[in-house]
Amino acid sequence: MYVKHLQCISCGKEYPATPQQLTCSECGPDGILDVIYDYSQIQKVFTKENLAINRDHSIWRYMPLLPIDPNVKRPSLRVGGTPIYYAKKLGKAIGVEKLYLKDDGLNPTGSLKDRASSIAVVKAVEAGAKIVACSSTGNAASSLAGNVASLNEYDLKACIFVPERAPAGKIAQLLIYGAIVISVEGSYEDAFNLSAAAIEKYGWYNRNAAINPYLVEGKKTVAFEICEQLNWEAPDWAVFSVGDGCTIAGAYKGFYDLYQLGMIDKIPKLIGVQAEGCAPLTRAWETGEPWQKTEENTLADSIAVGSPRNPEKALNAVRKSQGMMVNVSDEEILKMQTFIGRHTGVFGEPAGVTGFAGLKKLIDEKKISPEDSYVVVITGNGLKDIANARKAAGEPVRIAPDLEKLDQLLKEYGLIDKL
Ligand SMILES: *Cc1c(COP(=O)(O)O)cnc(C)c1O
Ligand SMILES: [Zn+2]
Repeated sequence: MYVKHLQCISCGKEYPATPQQLTCSECGPDGILDVIYDYSQIQKVFTKENLAINRDHSIWRYMPLLPIDPNVKRPSLRVGGTPIYYAKKLGKAIGVEKLYLKDDGLNPTGSLKDRASSIAVVKAVEAGAKIVACSSTGNAASSLAGNVASLNEYDLKACIFVPERAPAGKIAQLLIYGAIVISVEGSYEDAFNLSAAAIEKYGWYNRNAAINPYLVEGKKTVAFEICEQLNWEAPDWAVFSVGDGCTIAGAYKGFYDLYQLGMIDKIPKLIGVQAEGCAPLTRAWETGEPWQKTEENTLADSIAVGSPRNPEKALNAVRKSQGMMVNVSDEEILKMQTFIGRHTGVFGEPAGVTGFAGLKKLIDEKKISPEDSYVVVITGNGLKDIANARKAAGEPVRIAPDLEKLDQLLKEYGLIDKL
């Protein structure tokens, strides 16, 4: 391990990197810790040449930059190694030439959260835990459940607290993977608070992302992959949807690591996109005031987070990279779901396409340049939330099993010549 220590992002206090040290004892639950690495040692083993001959295409290829002991048991699911596409047709449709989509919905349980959950499972094993718990709007939970289920030769259970509103597809995943599922009446915050109380009371391992500093380290692998897949040429901008803020904070950390190691020549500017009905971090970014709790009024359930758990790391990521925040409406999100699908063959869940909706809006409003290069991360798979996809795409036409009827229909569509 090349970790030096953990450091509080508020007061700077340092702690040894044990699996149990999750927040700063001085600052309490808001004392978010950051993992600090020994870059000069990492530099000796972590090189572009070594990566080029490494045939492990999961996140474990980045082991020297991960806060785990390579000898501890790991989940066997293949996490990471998701494709990046040059989205020529989609880019053209919004007037951007250099547009790339990274489809993280192709992770084993269908979202970017797998990158964090796989690390959580390693840490739970390292801590000798029997139960690992989290509260989640869905994806953190389903990825934890899947990664736990894939663990061989170690008996670990996932206990998951979900808010009532979590989509059926995500709940089904949890149950299929054999997690203990507790559906909490109320909001995400209610589910979070109950999970925190249970974790405290029963001494379970805590996968709640903001609280657990190791998880952002898993999420940062998305930035490593982006740079490696683009031949170590960092894009001008990278775009993420934002809920708790761990994803965009993780991306920043990943770019930061590579920049410290001299492997890229700039840190991309980060664009964070929230839903209009739930945008505490955009408001904080715009006003410069501390963030305030908001309603959770959006169909993009994965970013329906009225009280973000990682606000400082997220806002730092946007500010330090000289990026920006923007909001989009649910209507724009649904529109972009089909728009992306039709131009790329990539099917994202609502929060998965929110980043692109924000990019399109900023381009339309001329707030960013169409000449720059953009990577948009599709953070979750559309099949997780079919109810909203049907809202976006509508229903198919129905006809009787009759060739003449089909003929008529195809003529209406202009797909065959009218007689
Ligand atoms: C969790 C999640 C996000 C947002 O990540 P945060 O760390 O909460 O900001 C975005 N999209 C999807 C699909 C997610 O599951
Ligand atoms: Zn502190």
